[in-house]
Amino acid sequence: MGPPVMSETETRIKAPTPKPWIEAIHAYVPGKSKGKDGKPLIKLSANENPLGTSPAALAARAQAPALYPDPDSTALRTAIGAAHGIDPARVVMGTGSDELLNLAAQGYAGLGDEVIYVRYGFSVYDIAARRCGATPVVAPDLDYGTDVDALLALVNDKTRVVFVANPNNPTGSYLPGGEIARLHAALPADVLLVIDQAYGEYVAPEDDDGALALAAAHRNVLVTRTFSKIFGLAGERIGWGTGAPGIVATLNRIRGPFNVSATGQAMALAALGDPAFVEASRVHNRDERGRFVEQLEALGNHGLRPLPSQANFVLILFEGALTAETAFDGLADRGYIVRWLPGQGLPQALRITIGKPKDMDVIAEALRGMAEGAK
Ligand SMILES: *Cc1c(COP(=O)(O)O)cnc(C)c1O
Repeated sequence: MGPPVMSETETRIKAPTPKPWIEAIHAYVPGKSKGKDGKPLIKLSANENPLGTSPAALAARAQAPALYPDPDSTALRTAIGAAHGIDPARVVMGTGSDELLNLAAQGYAGLGDEVIYVRYGFSVYDIAARRCGATPVVAPDLDYGTDVDALLALVNDKTRVVFVANPNNPTGSYLPGGEIARLHAALPADVLLVIDQAYGEYVAPEDDDGALALAAAHRNVLVTRTFSKIFGLAGERIGWGTGAPGIVATLNRIRGPFNVSATGQAMALAALGDPAFVEASRVHNRDERGRFVEQLEALGNHGLRPLPSQANFVLILFEGALTAETAFDGLADRGYIVRWLPGQGLPQALRITIGKPKDMDVIAEALRGMAEGAK
């Protein structure tokens, strides 16, 4: 028998059929850098570091070889281990922490299983759950924050993975260590708890949520971190995770063999060697975020409600006459692109990355003007 012969009509109408759970995915919508007319705007829509990146990382970029990178990122994992007091064998690298979030779902959940996260959680969790055929289960929020009891109420025999971002994106909300510990203690031992600390370095050291200690002590906790946010290396796509040896081995089995570029490894290594840049970024963010929120609160009863944030952005709820959409357009007219999130169930909110002092002053003033004009 030769190869099957298709009729002309069959040739025309047949096509590969995507799996239904893949078709159900809404592709990730990234923060934009241009206005509707294509005009480049100051980008406060993707939580990037307004201070750029460490000069040491920029210098390392030029040195990186163009051949295949070290598939095990050995030098980088060693430096991460040293910086956080973690055995480097318990560190796994990803093409951004996005890859690790997807691998965590893929490694531990599949068709018929459930993956839980909170309403207004990071949008990648939904994609990660669906990609492997699992069913995403969404817990109600508590005034936009993470509700541990609501998460726990949804756990059942089918639950395989629970995702919590701490601080959370896009809300900026933060669960203190006691709440993270309470969540972990109440989860069955065979459910993987993924604590996504993409903004972990922005949290004051005394407010540490204890997630790294949980990952060191238990067999069902994965903590993910990234070089994209405070380190300012989003373009290089480098994230890392840590957990029990079994979890690290699972993720290593299914990650891309050369998933972190040579340039990325070199730049991240250099960035880790410059803690002063990270600390300056944290302090800048804390001070500017505080000043920005104060300016919004000083507006009084204009219906703008900034949610408390521990991250490098603030989610502002528009509960008065001025709508988030009008404010989004008004800020674009003034040269700024921020994040409006109707696709995530937040048409009433804008997420604004904390930028340079001058830009935050212009934005606060513009919001004041628009809110007063809308009354
Ligand atoms: C930005 C972000 C990430 C990851 O970004 P990568 O660039 O893929 O490392 C992960 N989680 C949250 C909550 C984020 O906001």
